[in-house]
Amino acid sequence: MIKTDVVVIGAGPVGLFAVHQLGLIGLKAEVVDNLDKVGGQCIELYPDKPIYDIPGLPECSGESLTKNLLEQIKPFKTNFHLSQRVEQISKEENKWKIVTSKKNIFLAPNIIIAAGVGSFEPRKFSIKEAEKFENKSVFYSVKDKIFFKDKKVCIFGGGDSALDWAIELSKFSDVTLVHRRNEFRGAEHSSGIVKKLEKEKKIKVKMPFQIHSIEGKDKLETIIIKDDNEKTEKIETDCLLGFFGLIMKLGPIVNWGLNVEKKTIPVNTENFQTNKEGIFAIGDICTYPGKLKLILSGFHEGALAARGCFKLARPNEKYRFEFTTTSKSMQERLGVKKND
Ligand code: FAD
Repeated sequence: MIKTDVVVIGAGPVGLFAVHQLGLIGLKAEVVDNLDKVGGQCIELYPDKPIYDIPGLPECSGESLTKNLLEQIKPFKTNFHLSQRVEQISKEENKWKIVTSKKNIFLAPNIIIAAGVGSFEPRKFSIKEAEKFENKSVFYSVKDKIFFKDKKVCIFGGGDSALDWAIELSKFSDVTLVHRRNEFRGAEHSSGIVKKLEKEKKIKVKMPFQIHSIEGKDKLETIIIKDDNEKTEKIETDCLLGFFGLIMKLGPIVNWGLNVEKKTIPVNTENFQTNKEGIFAIGDICTYPGKLKLILSGFHEGALAARGCFKLARPNEKYRFEFTTTSKSMQERLGVKKND
């Protein structure tokens, strides 16, 4: 059992910044996330897209924001428990007991839920045979693009991820892009590049087509696609990549006895506590009058929730407001050297 001051559920931008705010006031956090990496929506949905409304950063990508947030919490040596979902929360004496899908157990006086829109799960191919090849030759994300090098890759989808990966993998793989409609949904600029690559015979494009069946014994060999008139085509392929979007589910959060309104958790705006003492909700998952689902709002919410956690984590101490510019204790926690 891991004992800590605060368990942060969700390693999106808001959860990461909450760790910083907790660390500054001397509270220790453990972070759990369902994904295999930190960064939440910024990393999973738009790693390369520019963000223009982070205070003090005129432009940054989802990926660079995540890197900077991680750099900022480095002094606190936080443990991340990835690829596991928080399943259960229960009260044990005056602490919260948190159990994950990997059966890790935490005991803490406080929980900060920074679970965004819930857990992400990719929408999958509708045909049953695809399951057999999943994670061997059927994938829903690219973990390492080199895996696809010199292979025949069929990419399904018409949104940004499908277009971006078709363009990227066409540099060293034999790419066929299959989309069920006549128009792509992704950025105009990316559609333009795909059309240009098609003309140059660097990408094959099949639209409007969708998957009909998959053939292969131990290894994927061919797929059959069909159009709206049931006309079929056979394509030899080594791998399938499906980009049909993500299904977002609140998941087990709905069973924790918290008030839930339209898939969000109502909080008070004084310290972002929910209807349960010691459970706070910040970022996209929380709601209150005037809530803006922006990263910058989540940062503010994290700062106040961290102060809210102090009361239960240090019941015999009084919280004192301090600035990082002048607080010696905050600077010590950040590892700032005396003469800096
Ligand atoms: P998330 O980023 O959603 O992270 C939540 C994390 O919690 C996820 O990693 C999830 O896996 C995890 N989780 C959920 N349930 C559990 C569980 N039970 N156990 C363990 N882990 C769990 N905002 C801006 O401010 N500016 C922009 O320009 C901007 N552009 C955007 C562009 C796009 C395409 C999208 C989709 C969003 C954009 N946003 C933008 C919104 C911004 O990304 C969100 O407001 C922000 O990501 C919310 O952060 P979060 O940490 O609250 O949640």
